[in-house]
Amino acid sequence: MADLNDTIAAIATPGGRGGIGIVRVSGSQCLPLCKALTGATPVPRQAVYAAFRDAGGQVMDRGLVLYFARPASYTGEDVLELHCHGGRSMPAMLLQRVLELGARPAEPGEFTQRAFLNGKLDLVQAEAVADLVDSGSQRAARSAVRSLEGEFSRSINALVEALIAARVHVEGALDFPDEELELLSATGVRQQLQQGLDAVADMLQRADAGRRLREGVRMVILGRPNAGKSSLLNRLSRSERAIVTDIPGTTRDLLEEQVVIGGVVASIVDTAGLRESGDLIEREGMERALAAARAADILLLIDEAATAGNGDWGEEILQSLPQDKEVVYIHNKIDLVGQAPSAAVDEDGRTVIRLSAKTGAGLPLLLDRLQDLAGQGAAGEDVILARLRHVHALERARDRLAQGLGRLTEHGSLELLAEDLRETQQALGEITGALSPDDLLGEIFSRFCVGK
Ligand code: GDP
Repeated sequence: MADLNDTIAAIATPGGRGGIGIVRVSGSQCLPLCKALTGATPVPRQAVYAAFRDAGGQVMDRGLVLYFARPASYTGEDVLELHCHGGRSMPAMLLQRVLELGARPAEPGEFTQRAFLNGKLDLVQAEAVADLVDSGSQRAARSAVRSLEGEFSRSINALVEALIAARVHVEGALDFPDEELELLSATGVRQQLQQGLDAVADMLQRADAGRRLREGVRMVILGRPNAGKSSLLNRLSRSERAIVTDIPGTTRDLLEEQVVIGGVVASIVDTAGLRESGDLIEREGMERALAAARAADILLLIDEAATAGNGDWGEEILQSLPQDKEVVYIHNKIDLVGQAPSAAVDEDGRTVIRLSAKTGAGLPLLLDRLQDLAGQGAAGEDVILARLRHVHALERARDRLAQGLGRLTEHGSLELLAEDLRETQQALGEITGALSPDDLLGEIFSRFCVGK
């Protein structure tokens, strides 16, 4: 990890044209650096209009200086925010000047890393900062803010406290082996552990819903040539990106579009038509279509209403794919056969939606269904915008806790129970960073953007 004694600097605003650019500086050299740059010593938490001067004393630009004295700053160190004119050049020149004055370029996420190391944020909150910056929908952003506000951390900490209370009894009982398990049952440890297990299970459910919200769900449209895949993708994405054509087999490649459905980011992949083909390029397209389908969360299986149901062509393909997917059957082109749009579950439990990609009839029915699927379990505002590492840690905690509870019930080894509880606490502690190894921390912060 980078040296914490350095003063670091980075442009915190995105590149490109814009009114204002901000260079952010953190570390012990902020005050002398500011004096050298502007000729003045800044007052904490006051916006001061100043001239930024180059090495020769010439004015490079004028702008605002904001100074936060440690420890009351984002990083917990002295922090400067230098607001200059935006665009590509000025922020870069100002950063260059700040580097000349002794700062070094910040690494990705280094400001937030310092905030974490100085106890300003826990790890979940630090990750929420990155998630907020990266959020692809307003719903994901709201959820990231809740994590940043400490909601997820508080749930974890409450759980850890309850666990510590239980551990006190268990570790205490280790010293009195004769009374051990009876004693533990009497002290309500079993109930404590059961409650802990329920809480972890609940959190896991909310975290998994949140993972979908964060990462988005992947939908793939599959169908024979000319079934209307590109038309449907166009409808869904309201753009003309996919080529719509009458000639079968022209969608040879994959077209991917991101849409926001019900606050959940969904990638929709339009695929090459699936049919027996001697054409090499087309076969290649089919291979890719199947690969995309294997990785999908949701499959939209589209067929023409006039022929749909005459020996379901999609079944064979579905059999060859992992069985963990939600499938929506779409009967397209109802305008050609004079059918009304509908959404129904057939006798085999399959969701069938009749619509027309051309006229748009029935599209709201499909969108409703997709919204349900994409946001599954993520209905309320109580989802946790979790990362896979959180989910894995919660799973570890759940498994060890369940194992411990089993030992208690079956009068197993007290030592092993104590070990289970230690491990449970370790897993939970890794989520908030209270008990995280250094390499994990390095890995997490390296994925941030520079200036954050
Ligand atoms: P793909 O090969 O599955 O991507 O199919 P396309 O989206 O390219 O559509 C093939 C043809 O069917 C095009 O001429 C579309 O205009 C037409 N088409 C698609 N959906 C409908 C529909 O709902 N009704 C009618 N009448 N034509 C449609």
